[in-house]
Amino acid sequence: MIEESTEIIGEFKELYDKVKLCYQCGTCAGGCPVFKQYSRFNPRRIMEKLLAGEFTKELFDDQQIWFCTGCYTCSTRCPQGIDICHVINGLKNMAVKVKNTPEGIITEMTAILETGVTAGISQSALKRRTKLELPEILPPDLNEVQKLMEVTGVVAKLNSLKELAEQ
Ligand code: SF4
Ligand code: SF4
Repeated sequence: MIEESTEIIGEFKELYDKVKLCYQCGTCAGGCPVFKQYSRFNPRRIMEKLLAGEFTKELFDDQQIWFCTGCYTCSTRCPQGIDICHVINGLKNMAVKVKNTPEGIITEMTAILETGVTAGISQSALKRRTKLELPEILPPDLNEVQKLMEVTGVVAKLNSLKELAEQ
């Protein structure tokens, strides 16, 4: 079991309450765009682990939860009305709390803070867009992005994750 802080155990119980109506139909996996490309990521399996009370380190260590793009397709299709995407977001928050954040996520957060996007658009993609007469992509308002990250506590969280990574 993961270090059992009362807060984390409480959060896990909350997540369990949200998934206990799951009857493992697989609709979530069937519609998941990530699962279609990469079958190791399977939201039904994640629900199964939660139902089984598998609140083990592996749930975070294999880092599968981070492959979820947060598209909400599963949540809109679940016959039991389970907000699967929200549950996976809860797991991601818990993973950060138990100090298990993939390096790539920290890199992406840093990129958003510094440029407003996770990755820039390549010149070739821009050329193709022009050729197809698609509208110009305007750069994000960096000040606004940074302000939002500051007031929502993302900057503070990012700094503590970086400190931890350097230890
Ligand atoms: S769609 Fe809903 S009920 Fe079906 S496996 Fe996924 S979470 Fe469970
Ligand atoms: S929210 Fe995540 S788990 Fe659900 S369909 Fe989208 S990528 Fe898959």
